[in-house]
Amino acid sequence: MTTYHGILHRYRGLLDLPDHTQTVSLLEGNTPLIPVPRLAQEMGGRFELYVKFEGLNPTGSFKDRGMTAAISEAAGRGVHTVICASTGNTAASAAAYAARAGMRAVVLIPQGKVAAGKLAGAAAYGAQIIQVQGSFDDALSMVVAISQKLPIALVNSLNPFRLEGQKTAAFEISDTLGNSPDWLCLPVGNAGNITAYWMGFRQYHHLKSAGLPRILGAQAAGAAPLVLGHPVEHPETVATAIRIGRPARGEQALEAIEQSQGRILAVSDEDILAMQRRLAGEGIWVEPASAAGLAGLEVEIRAGRLDPSGLRIVAVCTGHGLKDPEIITQRMRAPQVLPSDVKALEAALAQ
Ligand SMILES: *Cc1c(COP(=O)(O)O)cnc(C)c1O
Repeated sequence: MTTYHGILHRYRGLLDLPDHTQTVSLLEGNTPLIPVPRLAQEMGGRFELYVKFEGLNPTGSFKDRGMTAAISEAAGRGVHTVICASTGNTAASAAAYAARAGMRAVVLIPQGKVAAGKLAGAAAYGAQIIQVQGSFDDALSMVVAISQKLPIALVNSLNPFRLEGQKTAAFEISDTLGNSPDWLCLPVGNAGNITAYWMGFRQYHHLKSAGLPRILGAQAAGAAPLVLGHPVEHPETVATAIRIGRPARGEQALEAIEQSQGRILAVSDEDILAMQRRLAGEGIWVEPASAAGLAGLEVEIRAGRLDPSGLRIVAVCTGHGLKDPEIITQRMRAPQVLPSDVKALEAALAQ
């Protein structure tokens, strides 16, 4: 029997982590690459489409890949406190891995703009939660400043070890498919993940002569600084995980797009929510931001700007739908109420 020990164990030789690193793991990674042939057909093509379901990581998002690396490095040099700014998922992940390591976690979130499941996660894992009267970008400036002043480790994706961990998702996709896909579609917020994927695919290209995918990055229309070419002062979107107006790794994201001959585009909240519903129709419930990559692919195919015929395409679904239940419950019809009576049930089923 082979036992799975998490991404640091599986890919240790391929990760640029210092020797002092002491593994802190919740057995993250190894997420499924789910074929969705019916969705591909509906999207109008004969092509292979897969969802890399990163919502199945220990705290429900891909952030766990980066966090196991960042916290392991910090643990190895005796760090007691970690800090991050977060739209929610980084907070929950930092809180969980800090708890696992016996560290204190402090998380800064923009006031009132964090999905319920993420806030609850950070609280459940015992983080000190601070709401900032400002945006994610304001919170990020604050944690960067404080981590330069006090002996506190910053675990946002500005921390290079976060990217080392996150690039393992590219390794997993290539290992599963036996090569890289033709296109990789994903949502872009602070732009750490797109940067990490591109690092991972390039590394496999050099190491194993794997091909290089083209990268399709999708931002929400109300928070699309990389599409517009300038920061967005007041980003707004239902996809709270990518509600970011000043991406910390924006330049690297644009390099990844350019070098891969990919593209970056903006998708409307409507298209994002429609794709969230279609994915749920395949049994895959993701949070809104996670549907953006696939929504972007759909927009491009529909507009005739991308012909998927014969291609193999992977869409990264970054976080689980349970993170943001309210986006569903606020919009759903109230469930039917019946007396506890089989006849009433029969009548209801006949409708
Ligand atoms: C963090 C996050 C993103 C955006 O990733 P970046 O690295 O900030 O671009 C997208 N989706 C979800 C669910 C996230 O948690």
